[in-house]
Amino acid sequence: MLLSSRSIVVTGAGSGIGRACALRCASEGANVLVADIDEQAACATAALIAKKTRGCSGKTAVLAVDISKSAEVEKMVRAAVEQFGGLDGAVNCAGIEGERAGIDKMSLENFDRVMGVNARGLFLCMRAEVRQMLKQIADGERERAEARGSNDDDDVASSQNSSSVCCGTFSQDAAIDQTPCSIVNISSTAGSHGMPEFAAYCASKHAVLGLTRAVAGEVASRGITVNAVLPSTTDTPMVRRFARQWPAWQAQQNASFAIGRVCRPEEIAAAVVFLLSGECRAIAGSTLVVDGASRL
Ligand code: NAP
Repeated sequence: MLLSSRSIVVTGAGSGIGRACALRCASEGANVLVADIDEQAACATAALIAKKTRGCSGKTAVLAVDISKSAEVEKMVRAAVEQFGGLDGAVNCAGIEGERAGIDKMSLENFDRVMGVNARGLFLCMRAEVRQMLKQIADGERERAEARGSNDDDDVASSQNSSSVCCGTFSQDAAIDQTPCSIVNISSTAGSHGMPEFAAYCASKHAVLGLTRAVAGEVASRGITVNAVLPSTTDTPMVRRFARQWPAWQAQQNASFAIGRVCRPEEIAAAVVFLLSGECRAIAGSTLVVDGASRL
């Protein structure tokens, strides 16, 4: 199991890609906090985890969270710590598409709402998650120092520093190898190219990449990897909403994927779990595109 006993929070876990990620994390042995603005949907995901893993997963807990509200996000991280004893990983997946309109017709309210969830909400989640992970990492360092017979924080700091300095050879004991904390942010292929008539969504998903890259550079040397996954069209309730409003778009999607179909939520979850697992700790600050060789 790739995530045995790891404690992971998944936002937007009541539906689509988030639900698939929560299910996959649980089936890989993780304790999963299923977080979503829609509590009923989150409960349904927890029920699915129980059914599909038949009690072979770690623990599962459910929390209603609006990620655009700082206090609720803080509560989410506290809940993971209270329920599972810590936080080792996070999948920041909750997001909204907002309204479809050209820039000349788009309301400011739509722009603020989409940015409020997809960019501000993701910032709030990462900030709270990183704070908790850094605290755990510092606690672990302190315990290791105590076990070595030293309670001196300066020793801890110098051992952390020496791990990132090469003295005639390559460093072998970096913090990243000792403390497997990982964050995966869900952006979109709309985070790397323009998506006409979805300027707010597109801007928010570009913002996810900026946040990912900046924070990855801050925390990688301290033991946390941060990466982003960029799904292309994936068959979820969000995309079905698009398709209902815009049938021509659906036909264009089906024709544009070189693999012959749009992506499945489980395929996005597979990429997420690989990045969460720490199988390759050198992947940090990266942006993994999952797009079925789409020609869009
Ligand atoms: P989805 O089926 O609509 O699921 C999103 C979940 O997030 C829903 O349960 C939603 O609840 C919840 N949510 C919305 N606002 C929230 C908030 N403020 N706080 C907490 N939870 C909130 O969408 P999806 O297709 O799985 O998309 C998941 C993520 O993947 C999004 O970030 C999306 O932008 C990204 N993505 C999707 C695709 C795609 O083709 N599906 C492609 C690229 C990227 P409600 O239903 O009550 O709003």
